[in-house]
Amino acid sequence: MTLQFDSQTVPINPITQQFDALVFDALILGGGAAGLMCALEAGKRGRRVAVLERAERAGKKILISGGGRCNFTNIHCRPENFISANPHFAKSALARYTPSDFIALVEKHRIPYHEKTLGQLFCDRSARDIMDMLEGECRDAGVQLFVKTSIHEVLRTTEFVVRAREMEFRAPVLVIATGGLSIPKMGATDFGYALARQFGLSIREPRPALVPFVFDDADRGRYCDLAGVSADVAVSCDGQQFREKMLITHRGVSGPAILQISSYWKPGQSVAIDLAPGSDVTAALRGPKTPRNITALRSALHNFLPNRFVNRWLDLHPPTAWTNSGLAELERLVHQWNVVPAGTEGFAKAEVTAGGVDTDELSAKTMESRKMPGLFFIGEVVDVTGHLGGFNFQWAWASGACAGRAL
Ligand SMILES: Cc1cc2nc3c(=O)[nH]c(=O)nc-3n(C[C@H](O)[C@H](O)[C@H](O)COP(=O)(O)OP(=O)(O)OC[C@H]3O[C@@H](n4cnc5c(N)ncnc54)[C@H](O)[C@@H]3O)c2cc1C
Repeated sequence: MTLQFDSQTVPINPITQQFDALVFDALILGGGAAGLMCALEAGKRGRRVAVLERAERAGKKILISGGGRCNFTNIHCRPENFISANPHFAKSALARYTPSDFIALVEKHRIPYHEKTLGQLFCDRSARDIMDMLEGECRDAGVQLFVKTSIHEVLRTTEFVVRAREMEFRAPVLVIATGGLSIPKMGATDFGYALARQFGLSIREPRPALVPFVFDDADRGRYCDLAGVSADVAVSCDGQQFREKMLITHRGVSGPAILQISSYWKPGQSVAIDLAPGSDVTAALRGPKTPRNITALRSALHNFLPNRFVNRWLDLHPPTAWTNSGLAELERLVHQWNVVPAGTEGFAKAEVTAGGVDTDELSAKTMESRKMPGLFFIGEVVDVTGHLGGFNFQWAWASGACAGRAL
């Protein structure tokens, strides 16, 4: 069974009056999605594994994910769904541990699930099912989980020495699965990056991704009283395009289309929003039967967008003329409304962290450091970031499983 310890209550050796070093085959820092998957794979292969988790319980992010139902994978997972300085890096791990592998595990535990849209698989009941499954698998594999275990120091002697308060852990293998910087309120820290630097590995600048945009004061004044209004749009930036919902917020814009494009956006860039993808909005007005006036134009746009948004947008972008060229210009604007976000909501609201440990430093098959044998990095701390829709968990499972099988 899983031995779950609170490191503050592990007993002192009565003879030495000190904590003895706890020796394992592998230490995994971070009991999130990637760390638990790595632990259960290594445990199944007979390795004595300890997971050291800073929080009072493992898998906190899994529990809140997908609105509490955990979008645990995506059946259309392809390497193109991931962002990295090296777009080829994730291919090997993703091919070696696929959505079908994770679905098989979910089905083995008889967890009911459903496809929502676009291949996204969610639990029918709650994310708790996924946590119970991972904890059960770890228990069966003999994994030891130490919670409330905050690491102060990591040293490399003949093996890795990990110091947490009064405790010391030792193992020839160390796996870093401490996640990114997103949601500091839930305990995210830069620990993984600092440790990578300590061992001479380079980092691609971490940045918030899958994050809402904020507007400058002027645009906020123009649009944000419409907070709650949403529309089906196509959003483009940096050669990428996503067609999904956009939502106006009190500070800017959000919704799946915006979250997706935010992962590609860089400060200062404009984002092109197509308000009626694939449609010719002014076609009727250009014909002989429909009058050319603001009422007809409003009603044409109402076919694609909510009334309140149409009224505001037309107030701010009235046609320059009711001629064919004036209408053509308006049509162009409808399909390419350029917005320059003032910034993003930052790590406080970002679903993931892009950037991280440079993939050039790691083996694509095992996630082991090329410079420091025995040191592995998995999950969000690595410079691999998934699109919205279950891809980030799939990366956590795949990178965790590949490392776990190599320990
Ligand atoms: C609100 C929200 C909803 C999400 N929903 C989804 C979704 O539905 N589908 C999807 O695919 N992705 C989703 N994500 C993204 C997904 O949760 C992450 O990509 C994934 O959890 C990353 O796994 P990880 O194991 O690398 O890191 P984490 O899950 O962040 O785990 C890292 C663990 O390390 C621990 N830790 C940190 N520092 C230390 C330290 N110094 N010592 C010991 N332990 C430490 C942390 O406490 C944490 O438990 C969501 C993210 C958020 C914020």
